[in-house]
Order: sequence, then C-alpha cells, then structure tokens
Amino acid sequence: METQQLAKVERLSPLRRWGRFVLVRLCVLLVGGTFIVSGFSKALDPQGMCLKLQAYAAAWGWHVSPDALPVRTATGLLAILEFLLGIYLLLGIRRYFATRFTLLLTLALTLLTTYIYIYSPVADCGCFGAILTLSNGQTLAKNVVLLLCSLYLCFRSRDIRRLISEKNQWGASIWSFLFVCGLTLWTYHYLPRADFAPFSVGTDLRKALETGQDEQVASFYALTAEGEDATLALATDTGRTFLLTLPDIPRADDGNNDRLNDLHDLCADRHWQFYALTAEGQDFSQWNDRTGATYPVLVADESQLRALARSNPGLVMLHDGKVVAKWSCNNLPETETDIAAAEKQQKEQTRWDAIKHLATLYLLPLIIWLLLDNLYVGSRFLKHWHIRRKIKLKIQTHKTTLNKQQSMRKKIVAGNWKMNKNLQEGVALAKELNEVLTADRPNCGVVICTPFIHLATVSGVIDHSVIGLGAENCANKASGAYTGEVSAEMVKSTGAEYVILGHSERRAYYGETPEILKEKVNLALENGLKVIFCIGEVLEEREAGKQNEVVKAQLEGSLFDLTAEQFANVVLAYEPVWAIGTGKTATADQAEEMHAFIRTTIAEKFGAEAAENTTILYGGSCKPSNARELFAKPDVDGGLIGGASLKAPDFKGIIDAWK
Ligand code: PEP
Repeated sequence: METQQLAKVERLSPLRRWGRFVLVRLCVLLVGGTFIVSGFSKALDPQGMCLKLQAYAAAWGWHVSPDALPVRTATGLLAILEFLLGIYLLLGIRRYFATRFTLLLTLALTLLTTYIYIYSPVADCGCFGAILTLSNGQTLAKNVVLLLCSLYLCFRSRDIRRLISEKNQWGASIWSFLFVCGLTLWTYHYLPRADFAPFSVGTDLRKALETGQDEQVASFYALTAEGEDATLALATDTGRTFLLTLPDIPRADDGNNDRLNDLHDLCADRHWQFYALTAEGQDFSQWNDRTGATYPVLVADESQLRALARSNPGLVMLHDGKVVAKWSCNNLPETETDIAAAEKQQKEQTRWDAIKHLATLYLLPLIIWLLLDNLYVGSRFLKHWHIRRKIKLKIQTHKTTLNKQQSMRKKIVAGNWKMNKNLQEGVALAKELNEVLTADRPNCGVVICTPFIHLATVSGVIDHSVIGLGAENCANKASGAYTGEVSAEMVKSTGAEYVILGHSERRAYYGETPEILKEKVNLALENGLKVIFCIGEVLEEREAGKQNEVVKAQLEGSLFDLTAEQFANVVLAYEPVWAIGTGKTATADQAEEMHAFIRTTIAEKFGAEAAENTTILYGGSCKPSNARELFAKPDVDGGLIGGASLKAPDFKGIIDAWK
C-alpha cells in the first residue's frame, strides 16, 4: 500500500500535483497562521486569558483566581504550544509530529467549542484574547474548518514544504520558544505591550459616561465606602487622577508599598487625586495594615478593575477624564518627570506600533537564520554537485577507455532459498536448474545460495561453470567452541564460492550489527569467498526520506575498512526491507536512484574504477514480470531473489530477463 503510494506520487499529472501543492499550502497558512495569531495574542495579554479561564471555571461551579499560579502557567503553556505549532507548520519543522499534534489540539478545541456553542457558559471563547472577539457560533465554525485542514495535513505531512533544513531547525525552534515564553513572562511582570482591553490608553471615560456609547466603559462605577457614587467626580476632574487598582487584596503584591506611598505623597503635594479602587467584598483594612496606606478607597466592579490594569495592584492615570497612562506594580513612576515621560510615550505609541515592534523583534533574527540556512544548504548542494560531476566525468572517461565494453561488471541473478526445502527437495531443485541452464546457457552469472546442509550435496550436482553456489550466512568466528555455528572456511570447503551477509532478516531477527557483519565479511574474504552484502532501509526510514543516510551508514559500518582489492570481491545487494517478501517492489526508477547513489558512495570511498566495477543487485519481490524493467536500468546489475528462486521456471524467467 505504502509503496503504491510512493509510486503514485511520482505518477501524478502536473496539474494534480500543482493542485495538491496549493491545497497543502493553503491549509498550512490557515492552520499555522491561526495558531500563530492565537498563541501570540495570548502571550500579548496572558492575564486576559486567565480571566477567561476563570469565567470557564465559574461556569462549571469552581472558583479559581486569575492570579493563581496554575491558571497563569496553563495560559502560558497554551500560548507557547499554539505559537510553536503554528511556526512548525509554516516552516515545515518536524512535520510528522507537528501535524499529529495540531490534529489533537484542534480536535480538543472543537469538542470544547461545540460544548460552549450548545450550553453558552461564556459569551466568547477568548481564542484571540481581546484583539478579536468571535461569537461562540463563529468560533465553532472556525474550529471545524481548522480540524478538516489539520486532518488533511496529517495525510500530506510529507508534502509540507520545509523552509529550513532539518539540520538548522533547532535555531528557529529555540528562538520561537524564547520569544513567546519571554513575551508571556514580560507581560505577566509588566503590562501588555499592546492593550486591546476596554479602558486602554486614550479611552475618554467622561464622554463614555455622558453618551453611553462604549457599553463596557459606560457601565463603570466607583462608590465610596459609604455607598455614594463617586464616578462623575473622577471622570470630570480636570487635573490628574491616580487610581490604584486592587482587584484581589489577599493576592495583591505589596512589595512596592514604599514607592506607592511616596507617589501618594507626591500627588498630595501637587494636589492630584489619588484613590485605591478595590472590588466589592474586599477588606481594604488588610491592605492598610500591610502597607500603611493613607489614601482613600473606592469600590468598583472586579472585572472592570482587571480591565483597567492587568496588574494587581496596577496604577492608572486619568487626565481630564481620559485614561492617559498605566503602570504595573513592578514599574511605578517615582517622579513627576517619570509620569510625564510615561504619559508622552504611551500617547505616542499606538498598540499597532507595539505589535509592529514585536513582530520586527521576532522576525528579524528568524529571517537572518533562514537566510544563513539557505546559504548553508546552497553551499552543500554546490559542493555535492561538484563532487558528483567530477565522479561522473571520471566514470565516463573510464568507460570509454575500456573500449565501450557492453558492460565491465558482472551481471548476476542470485537465489536466496532462505529456510526452505529439505535436502531431497533442495537437491532436486538444484538438478532441475542445472539441466535447464546447461541446455539454455544464461547471459549472466547465476548463483544459488542454499541452507548449510544442502551445500556439499548441491555442490556435487551442479556445473560450477554455469551455476555458482553460496551459503546464506557464516559465523563471525574462525573456529572453536561455537556450538551450532558454521565457519567461512567450512562453507568454502563444500565447494561454495559465495556467502550472503547482512541480509535484513539476519539483522532484524538475529541482532547482526554492523560490527558483527564486519567480522563476518573479513573472515569470508580471508577464506576466498565472495560476499553478497545486503543493504536497505525500512519503510519508516524511506518515508522520512532517510534511505540514503541509512544505506550509507550500513556500507560504512561493515565495508569501508576493506582495501579496494578486498572490496573487488564484494557484490552489493540493495534490498529495501519494505519490499522483501511483501509483494511490493520498488519502482525501477526508485531502484535506479538508490543504486546510482550507492555507486557514487563507493566511488567516494574506493574510487571511480572500483565503483564502476561493483555489481549491485536489486532484491525485493523481484519476479519474471518485473525483472526486465528493473534490469534495464543502467545501475541495476541483476537481482537477489527470494521467493521466486524456489521454483525453477520462475527463477529461469528472471535469469532470462538478461536475454
Ligand atoms: C530476499 O530475501 O533477499 C528477497 C529479495 O526476498 P523476495 O524476493 O522474496 O522479496
């Protein structure tokens, strides 16, 4: 199934390929873009999201404070998760993992918003903080679209374009993490760099109260301890008025009370009003006791206090009824100059300016990293291209100097009987093959690799000038107390000339590591056997695009310590593990691509001549029906045949593909 898919991708018409490309790109932009905006808006105003979580909890009958550490942590983690997933999708980082995780998250969010849509526990979900408010119906529709796109991306994760090489993805990941994490922590400590909540700087409280236009602002009230309405007095004062917001006195940070009291003294000196604004039900005497505060206290609605300043306590300055500046309790002004400077700066910098600054701060290093990565990839590409060109040229020159022989390297069809046939059946098969092939001589070398117990007898019934004999394995020890093992020397003594080593079944089921195989290869060569050495990747490795890497490591691990002279006695067999005994054959183009890569790798190590002379067989569900197409490829020099070597007519059919 997977193989068929691989082959299908290559066979898609250009129009369909283009359509798929556009669809994948659209889904990436939609899902990735939404997650980035959603994560960024939470990092920009995490306290806003904490309030939302408080509202959700209240709807389910739990009382949680938005200032509680678990609530703050959950908000921070959600912001980081959404932002990183968005960036991963857009840049094509860890595509498999990112698409699966995105699907899980969108599925969870869709279920949650379906519940919210049906039962309306809150008026809006708070996905984009205060930047963009969506109704519950709109949120559900948005999440359904995202869910469908995420599902599609899961099936097409390999079609998501990587904008950064795998090697340098760590840089983009770490920077994105630091940015979103830093922004969240910074905002928790100070105030949002861009304030989209009601009562942002510039809000005209007096006008809102008079006209009732901005509903949330117009509903603001402040009562004295005696219950008298002081709202108008605040809004109509023409001077400066400072409001110290204290939505939750037990949790309020009192670490800056000296600065607060000094500020209060400064206000008294300049005849500016200074009030504490706390929520209904709060005990202000607690704050008095903790800080020695002497300023008057007014009572307001808790949600409005939290909208006025996202800090507990926070400081808001009104001037002529307008909100003109805000401070968190962690950066309170000390002097009149500080106050004037903050007022000027907050007036001049709009919230969109702040967002532009943040975007530049994030994007600039990221873009530089992407450019450096492109340069790095480009230079590696050029280097490889150069090396390959040189090798190709050498091979070509070598080919011509060898008088354009039809082919210099031996073509071979080798059978691997595996653990099949008892002695009598095996000998019968060998006799039958011998008869058929001596009557109709093959155009290629033929080898049969049999179980150990068949070797000596089969050796006596075949014509060794027509059929070579090989074992399927040999020991990694020369001789001695290794019960059940068969040494290379013993194999050789039966009349065999070949031995298969490194077969994927031996690697997988008998734990044969590159080191063990290296020992076996050395012993086989020392005893005058030719080695048919198998290499190949498993399906997951091919799907992750790692087949070249895997095959190269297998060659390096067991063969690259040989001399070129020793290597001349090695035949390679490229056997993609997903094609062995499964009926799934690699396409002829896939086989050729790998064989050419293997030959280039051999050339890099042993030189162009050795590479040109190395026989590379293909193995994996090779049959009479597909052998001709596979063997027609310039770098495929024959096959290592499993299942189809057990019947003389099938094996002969494959051998005849060379005719
Ligand atoms: C093998 O095991 O080497 C092999 C290629 O098997 P099959 O031809 O049965 O896929």
